[in-house]
Amino acid sequence: MTNPIHKDWKPATKLVHGGTTRSGFGETSEALFLTQGYIYESAEAAEARFIGELPGYIYSRYANPTVAMFEQRMCELEGAEAARATASGMAAVNSAIMSCVRAGDHFIAPKALFGSCRYIIEQILPRYGVESTLIDGTDIEQWKAAIRPNTKAAFLESPTNPTLDVIDIQAVADIIHGVGGRLIVDNVFATAIWQAPLTLGADVVIYSATKHIDGQGRCLGGIVLSDKKWIEEEFHDMYKHTGPAMSPFNAWVLLKGLETLPLRVERQTSTAAKIADLLAESSAVSRVIYPGRADHPQADLVQKQMRGGSTMLAFDLSGGKEAAFKFSNALQIVKLSNNLGDAKSLITHPATTTHQSVAEEARLELGITDHTLRLSVGLEDPEDLLDDVRQALASI
Ligand SMILES: *Cc1c(COP(=O)(O)O)cnc(C)c1O
Repeated sequence: MTNPIHKDWKPATKLVHGGTTRSGFGETSEALFLTQGYIYESAEAAEARFIGELPGYIYSRYANPTVAMFEQRMCELEGAEAARATASGMAAVNSAIMSCVRAGDHFIAPKALFGSCRYIIEQILPRYGVESTLIDGTDIEQWKAAIRPNTKAAFLESPTNPTLDVIDIQAVADIIHGVGGRLIVDNVFATAIWQAPLTLGADVVIYSATKHIDGQGRCLGGIVLSDKKWIEEEFHDMYKHTGPAMSPFNAWVLLKGLETLPLRVERQTSTAAKIADLLAESSAVSRVIYPGRADHPQADLVQKQMRGGSTMLAFDLSGGKEAAFKFSNALQIVKLSNNLGDAKSLITHPATTTHQSVAEEARLELGITDHTLRLSVGLEDPEDLLDDVRQALASI
């Protein structure tokens, strides 16, 4: 079912050719197998397939040829042995966490998490008897203090949303492995282009493919990548029986997205760096957080574990919420939206949108003030974007 893995290819080549399985027609572009089921040649063949004696597809909730191409292409990029694609990023996070823990286990995660990830850990896990400890993920001492003999797994995002804190993946992996637990890394903000968590000791990597992998704001998707043994023995049955599967149509769109991923991420990152520098020079801006700038709080760690900066930046304006709203409303090219990784530049005021349900005290603890803005840099001409930011700054 699977193709040879091309370990020697560089990422851009893997992203154009990796995982491609051609039908008898020899099509250039990946085929879209928009099918739920598969026909067996005989009753005997059906029986053999169900007991696993004959390879082949059975039902698209378990596996589908177009989805399998997406999974393999992602495995090649990430250097993972196996993967399962999911309907959304949250389906990937939820199924990865649920496959790691059982009642009586303990779980660790930083407080700075994408809102829905925090909901799973704080609200859902306790219902099933899994206790968790939420910490400041940038402080390695807090990871050490939180660990228990029954810590079966931990989850982290780096850089975090929206304040772009960077967490030492290798150090956390060592601590979790000390008690035999597994580390799950949400690599959405870094992208596979700038960070490879598996090489830093992570056991499972997840993505919301909705973000940079699609990169053009079209469809939702997610993926869980890990070693073959864990995917097949611990993850697959949960996936197969609970149904978070990716639609073949979305897998096809995302395969096309992967072909241009490095070009887009490199361009978005270089523009983001220019905007970060422009903001840092403005008297209207009190703080700029950009992984890649020397004044990032964990600049040394960025150097150590990331190959590039970020397509995202966060900044505080001096004039409070009023200035943040005025600035956002004055932008002409940059649009107001809570999505990220898109070809269109998008600005978010986290305190009143993505983090609106987080209590004020907890929000401030995360560094999300009333005047913090998050910018996802798109593919517009860098000069146009710089001009747009300049005129919006001038308006406040
Ligand atoms: C968007 C996002 C998710 C959730 O992904 P969906 O595709 O929206 O379900 C999870 N983690 C991070 C860091 C994200 O940005």
